[in-house]
Amino acid sequence: MKKKNLKGLTLEELEDFAEELGQPRYRGWQIFSWLYAKGVKRFEEMSDISRNLRGRLAEVATISHLDASSYETSSIDGTTKFLFALSDGLRIESVIIPPDPIDSIGADTGKRLTLCVSTQVGCPLDCKFCATGAMGYTRNLTPGEIVDQVIEAQKHSPRRITNIVYMGMGEPLMNYENVMKSIEILTHRRCLNIGSRHITVSTAGWAVNIRRMADEERKVKLAVSLHTLDNGLRARLMPITRKYPLDILLDAVRYYYQRTRLRPTFEYILFRDLNDTDRDLGQLITLARKIPCKVNIIPFHSIDFMNPSGVAATLRPSTRERMSAFVDALRENHVMVFVRSSAGEDINAACGQLAVKEEASFGEKAGVGVV
Ligand code: SAH
Repeated sequence: MKKKNLKGLTLEELEDFAEELGQPRYRGWQIFSWLYAKGVKRFEEMSDISRNLRGRLAEVATISHLDASSYETSSIDGTTKFLFALSDGLRIESVIIPPDPIDSIGADTGKRLTLCVSTQVGCPLDCKFCATGAMGYTRNLTPGEIVDQVIEAQKHSPRRITNIVYMGMGEPLMNYENVMKSIEILTHRRCLNIGSRHITVSTAGWAVNIRRMADEERKVKLAVSLHTLDNGLRARLMPITRKYPLDILLDAVRYYYQRTRLRPTFEYILFRDLNDTDRDLGQLITLARKIPCKVNIIPFHSIDFMNPSGVAATLRPSTRERMSAFVDALRENHVMVFVRSSAGEDINAACGQLAVKEEASFGEKAGVGVV
């Protein structure tokens, strides 16, 4: 009989599992907190469970875990990027992002520590500006693999991880069930106790599941990678636009706001002369009047594509001057706007730079650790 992997099971599933073994349901509670609050890797460590039962558990079940095969800390801003090996040998990355004092004027960021997690190995969406997109898609991560990124990153961090952003490799809303299960586990008070409003799910625009998330009242923050309000340009940059055009996407986002009353964030990478014109500015201002939102301006991080072609070959970051003027104009028009810093750019840990290369250049830069 194949052993059951308990990592990634929700509390209810663990209670059911306990019952199947002829145990009281509260054993599910016990296992839940050992797995997620204490992060144990072996049944032997579950010291409030009898030796007999621990032996039985080891016969019928396993506990998978991730190995942080290495990590790397930016000497400039303290961003830490983890490289995790999955049990089938594939690899993914997660990033701890320290609070940015420049972005956060007025906000209480002193106690905040954010982890950016991956949800897929690679990504099927092929956004033309993104390194993960260029890797292609291999598979979805399991709920256990998503939760384990938090558990393992926490072990290496002296401070408590308080916020999770689903903005690493992959499209979270194409791995809906597993992502939602991971959120259920992470937000549980017996686990890492992360508030659902401290969790942000970022999507390239998988509109149908934005609606589903609203209907299921998940109450997490929604971020949408918008990047332009020109449907034709968006389709060239982000092929998902052909499946969910902008009007369908924005309807879903409005619906999310109406159901949850949580302001969505629109992420907007500034590309020189492509989406940073006055016309683009006007469209963004109009949008912000229609949907209460925040706008996150992201500098474009250039990617070492092997052979950039088509629109990818033309992408350049906007100039600093244009970026400030764009942001100032949004502010003057009462748009709530933030500038995403490029934390971690020196270690390829900034937005859109996550791509696991074979024999990545770990070991060549400052602050490298091998675990
Ligand atoms: N698939 C999800 C989450 C992963 S991408 C999504 O699309 O939202 C996380 C963020 O990084 C997105 O806003 C994405 O558009 C942005 N991003 C991707 N490539 C980038 C690059 N080269 N420079 C800056 N931001 C980038």
